Amino acid sequence: MSVGSILILPGDGIGPEAMAEVRRIIDWYGDKRGLAFDVSEDLVGGAAYDAHGTPLTDAAMDKAQSVDAVLFGAVGGPKYDTLDFSVKPERGLLRLRKEMDLFANLRPAQCFDALADFSSLKRDVVAGLDIMIVRELTSGIYYGEPRGIFEENGERVGINTQRYTESEIARVARSAFELARKRAGKVCSMDKANVMESGILWREVVQTVHDEEYPDIELSHMYADAGGMQLTRWPKQFDVIVTDNLFGDLLSDVAAMLTGSLGMLPSASLGAPMANGRPKALYEPVHGSAPDIAGQGKANPIATILSFAMALRYSFDLGDEADRLEKAVEKVLADGVRTADLLNEEGKMPATTSQMGDAILAALDASL
Ligand code: NAD
Repeated sequence: MSVGSILILPGDGIGPEAMAEVRRIIDWYGDKRGLAFDVSEDLVGGAAYDAHGTPLTDAAMDKAQSVDAVLFGAVGGPKYDTLDFSVKPERGLLRLRKEMDLFANLRPAQCFDALADFSSLKRDVVAGLDIMIVRELTSGIYYGEPRGIFEENGERVGINTQRYTESEIARVARSAFELARKRAGKVCSMDKANVMESGILWREVVQTVHDEEYPDIELSHMYADAGGMQLTRWPKQFDVIVTDNLFGDLLSDVAAMLTGSLGMLPSASLGAPMANGRPKALYEPVHGSAPDIAGQGKANPIATILSFAMALRYSFDLGDEADRLEKAVEKVLADGVRTADLLNEEGKMPATTSQMGDAILAALDASL
């Protein structure tokens, strides 16, 4: 029996190379763990534009709406830079996020011990770090009206509007509390309630959702600027951080860099539960299509592989299997297997994308 359905959208550049390693891992789960997924694949981004003249066909969009999890590679490349805005590769991803209404963006910042020296911070500050930033993704200042550049008193004025409804705040707060229940049970909400009315409402609603529905979770509040400082001072004080679209954009990038390479960072974007109780979900690495190394076997597939681990945990409720995959990655790194982006020693031969996949599969075998 199938555990659930997955749509793979490899995209452009290194997307297909990294996703090929994920496919091998999905097959491994079918063969060795009896966990068969119903997998389909389609085009997105420049690849879809080349074939169909659009970065995402309606058929692919419909499929994405009906599966349990979408695994997304990366899109874009110099070949598409001059295309009209409406058919640019990124529009495919934006359409998926918008039509699936993926309001909670999950960005883990996890530092594997073996890579702690890659961080710009001291080893003891980041080694073993495991935090999760939940960013509200579909509202706030990037969407609020009025917006634009207007004339006023003989000069131009640029306007954006921070706007949040109670229900928008409540649903992302619930996502954070649910996650905390699967983790260390702590949520820190970040806002600017000291200077923004939208922040006062944010804080009130998060507190109310906590008190009424999640009293078992330890909730704290922090001003987002202080949060930025604390993230670089002692990030291990956090478990789950929940914040709005703008602050989340900044804080998740700060947290990402605590851990070193772009090739290591997964993400998930979740929406409302579907009829089967599973959330609408899209999983993707944080990095782009890396055209500078595409097609050369140099890409680090770990960010895409760890995104699949997130799918195991958050779409399929297979937390133990997600742990197994994350531990396999950890073991491979501890054994010294490195793609080029993770090497700072001269003279050491980097592993290719598929050699990294081989090593992770061997570690999975060893976990049985
Ligand atoms: P990028 O993330 O693609 O690459 C930045 C640098 O990091 C490059 O030097 C690249 O080689 C390296 N890198 C990234 N991922 C790596 C990996 N897995 N292994 C090894 N090295 C890796 O960002 P960019 O260069 O600014 O953008 C390239 C293209 O990707 C552009 O067309 C951009 O629009 C697109 N992009 C797409 C997404 C997405 O699909 N979600 C996100 C960001 C950028």
